Amino acid sequence: MSQTATHCPYCALQCGQWVDHDGQVDAREFPTNRGGLCQKGWTAGALLRHPQRLTEPLLRIHRRAELAPATWDTALSHVSNRLRALRAAHGPDAVAVFGAGGLTNEKAYLLGKLARVALGTSQIDYNGRFCMSSAAAAGNRAFGVDRGLPFPVTDLADAEVVVLAGANPAETMPPLMGHLETARLVVVDPRRTATAERALAAGGLHLQPVPGTDLVLALGMLHAAVVAGYLDADYLADRTTGFDDAWRVAAQWWPERAERVCGVAAADMRTAVDWLGKAGRRYVLTGRGGEQSAHGVDTVTAWINLALALGLPGRPRSGFGTITGQGNGQGGREHGQKADQLPGYRSIDDPAARAHVAKVWGVDPAALPGAGRSAAELLAALGRPDGPRALLVFGSNVLVSAPDAAAVAQRLAALDLLVVADVVPGETAMAADVVLPVAQWAEEEGTMTNLEGRVLRRRRALRPPPGVRTDLEVIAGLAERLGCSGFPAEPRAVFDELRAASAGGPADYAGISYERLDAGEALHWPCPAPDHPGTLRLFAERFAHSDGRARFVPVDHVDVAELPDAAFPLRATTGRVLMHYQSGAQTRRVRELAEVVPESFVEVHRDTAARAGLADGQWARVVSRRGAALARVRCVDTVRPDTVFLPFHFGAEQAANLVTNPALDPVSRMPEFKVCAVRLEPVSP
Ligand code: SF4
Repeated sequence: MSQTATHCPYCALQCGQWVDHDGQVDAREFPTNRGGLCQKGWTAGALLRHPQRLTEPLLRIHRRAELAPATWDTALSHVSNRLRALRAAHGPDAVAVFGAGGLTNEKAYLLGKLARVALGTSQIDYNGRFCMSSAAAAGNRAFGVDRGLPFPVTDLADAEVVVLAGANPAETMPPLMGHLETARLVVVDPRRTATAERALAAGGLHLQPVPGTDLVLALGMLHAAVVAGYLDADYLADRTTGFDDAWRVAAQWWPERAERVCGVAAADMRTAVDWLGKAGRRYVLTGRGGEQSAHGVDTVTAWINLALALGLPGRPRSGFGTITGQGNGQGGREHGQKADQLPGYRSIDDPAARAHVAKVWGVDPAALPGAGRSAAELLAALGRPDGPRALLVFGSNVLVSAPDAAAVAQRLAALDLLVVADVVPGETAMAADVVLPVAQWAEEEGTMTNLEGRVLRRRRALRPPPGVRTDLEVIAGLAERLGCSGFPAEPRAVFDELRAASAGGPADYAGISYERLDAGEALHWPCPAPDHPGTLRLFAERFAHSDGRARFVPVDHVDVAELPDAAFPLRATTGRVLMHYQSGAQTRRVRELAEVVPESFVEVHRDTAARAGLADGQWARVVSRRGAALARVRCVDTVRPDTVFLPFHFGAEQAANLVTNPALDPVSRMPEFKVCAVRLEPVSP
């Protein structure tokens, strides 16, 4: 049977897959996965013909009515009529749009254009705000550009030492571990994760900080590096600015002082720094552990400062990077679905950027709205007197994935109109007034940009079920009903327009075409011209700031937004498990995955569990100031006694985000997903 070459629908490693006409998946040799797939990738085809697949629009005629089947014409006309009425009554910002880091580049681009041109609203943001925004802001601040990995994944294969700060790839993207087999790993995580186990088994280190104190650990390691003489003075002089200011802060964080705050032994900090300092090929990589924090930008900056002090970024076979999570987490933040950005990773506040994009769109630059609210702030404003009255959601399940989930449910309920485009009846779709059934990854054409900034072709292997439309067709259909022309639904046409809109921007796709990708070229942005080879490695000669230098930025410790106290004595942290992806709307419906992890759990140190009167396997309530999540107790000795861990893949009363803290990073507006104060309560059987 003929097979189509495409990529996994889930994470940013974008493993190569073959998919046949029946949706059967096979592994495909590709540099990031080298022929491997994780369980999620192997079973991705199960959703294509899933019995719960949405195959017809659903419409709730008024807020208390049941969802009922409707024709596409009825559903889209209902949506466009309601949007027109709300805009006429309350102005363009009465309508908001929420996108996703899993959408193709073409969808992200057209969604941004729908918001800014057809709806004229500033109120657009996306779930990547909850994922990569802190890493992106820190990368822009230090290097002048944000590409998660400025080098290919394959460079890691001969690394001697790799620091994985708040990343757990053994569960989140297992094939990546194949590139780390020769490296000595230093894993930073409050839990002894599968990645930490692998590090320890191979003679590496596991540094187990108190949740929310990774920044102090990085400061302590920078102090140790300077004292041990590992500072690369020539690199600092030739390629950076600002070390003295950063050092003035780090000088106060000698390892023993850092140990008192973060709980990692000073001796371990010095060992890790010795390994990094003496190795020839070394990397520092960050993940969501430190990033999903109300001081996530500064935490990533602290790791960048350490990497710069050692002279790693831009050096052959060494470097700094962040491991992007969502499938198109990189491309999703480049093409205009973020509140403050226009296509090409341009700033919406930059007059030249506005003029360029407005010209491509054929509109007056003055007609383009300015920056809108960030994702969490947008959700918090829904249905309020000065907030949006309607929300269009594409590719996101905010009722599960946003912080303080009970408050989000209240805000959604206060809307006049909630429209959700989805493939299965996820929690947010089932709360909607209009549900639009859309195509899945193996049923559509497009491009994705993986964690290395490489643009990939997503290809159609089979047709969507009758009654299902692509997101691009939905967006184009809505624009047409709103009286706007110039919204193509054909992916190649959208991509060609995206190329023009991105030309000259930091993420320049102008030279990338379907033809070049289909011919097998490996193209990493920036790629400004059809004869440009793309940019496999950034920063070899210069960084992207106008003076070509990277910036040290002084950062210091601040307490987490919510410290434990007598009523809430534990720190809860959240994360992913091998069998599930993001809100779990897809993976909870795949039998092979759901059988292994069917329900939420809370990982508790066995001493802590005993003090709370909890036994292994018992249900518990994890209670914070905002709410409580139900979870089955797993007693372990691999998590800190002051910390409990919840996976965030479950909905309803098991949603981890019922307890998380919506406090925001002042720069990235990232919520504090990774730490809040909780207590545990037994639940009677
Ligand atoms: Fe690869 Fe990620 Fe898909 Fe797993 S989920 S197969 S690691 S792309």
